[in-house]
Amino acid sequence: MQSPVAPPIEGATHLHSGKVRDLYELPDGRLLMVASDRMSAFDFILETTIPDKGEILTRMSLWWFDQLSGLVPHHVLSTDVPAEVRGRAVICERLEMYPVECVGRGYLTGTGLLDYRATGQVCGISLPEGLLDGSRLPEPIFTPATKADFGDHDENVSYDAVAGTVGDGVAEQLRSLTLAVYARAEQIARERGILLADTKLEFGARPDGTMVLADEVLTPDSSRFWPADDWHPGRAQPSYDKQIVRNWLLSPESGWDRASGAAPPPLPDEIVTLTRSRYLEAYQTLTGETW
Ligand code: ATP
Ligand code: MG
Repeated sequence: MQSPVAPPIEGATHLHSGKVRDLYELPDGRLLMVASDRMSAFDFILETTIPDKGEILTRMSLWWFDQLSGLVPHHVLSTDVPAEVRGRAVICERLEMYPVECVGRGYLTGTGLLDYRATGQVCGISLPEGLLDGSRLPEPIFTPATKADFGDHDENVSYDAVAGTVGDGVAEQLRSLTLAVYARAEQIARERGILLADTKLEFGARPDGTMVLADEVLTPDSSRFWPADDWHPGRAQPSYDKQIVRNWLLSPESGWDRASGAAPPPLPDEIVTLTRSRYLEAYQTLTGETW
């Protein structure tokens, strides 16, 4: 997969671009994290962007950081960002990131489901028999993954593998903070009629060793949100993310053959509009704010 080109921002040095976000460094050493309107699906960055997506996700993440205050410090320092990225960027403290994607799961789906079907376990945790796609787990679990290089898949790993990489103390802290964040967020979402199936968090350390919640949090790009009134284990659940885009790409109308390895075609306007309204709906339902 090709790395996206991040637009230059005066006074900031470009450090890194992921599929969706661009990271810059400011002259004072703080980081500028910009959420673009790019969309990824099936590990491709699509050539069509979704208007306002970067701003919706940035606002959602900020709202969540606020809801989580008291549980764990977060990395956001300011939203006073350069004009060209206003609304869709934050300034944050630069942390030494732990090389672990910290996933909290309360429901079984995605790679967790695949692992469970193959081994009866997810990340070394044995689960009861008979669970279906979308089943609620007996209790939420910590299912870490390695951080893959650009264009690669993350890989689920056991808790012991994490402990081997970052040490027992840090691994235990990552697990307990992930589960604490998941529990708080799951409850908040449930009160609003949304199930938080799983979420991916990233943590880093300050120079003094304090563990800090970083990256984006609890957006549809990093989490699975399902409408609670449409939850039926035993099938794929409708969700507030890229499902509309994925379905269209896999449909005959798109003319795209996933197996060909070719890049997906541009999205038609109605798919863009539907996807944007899906992200907006998630934002409005969760935060109670109108756009
Ligand atoms: P992908 O598109 O698959 O997510 P990616 O993780 O490389 O790829 P982004 O998520 O866009 O790309 O990039 C954000 C990067 O910034 C990640 O590498 C993340 O670990 C890092 N990061 C987030 N917060 C901080 C922080 N406070 N200090 C240092 N690095 C951070
Ligand atoms: Mg990332």
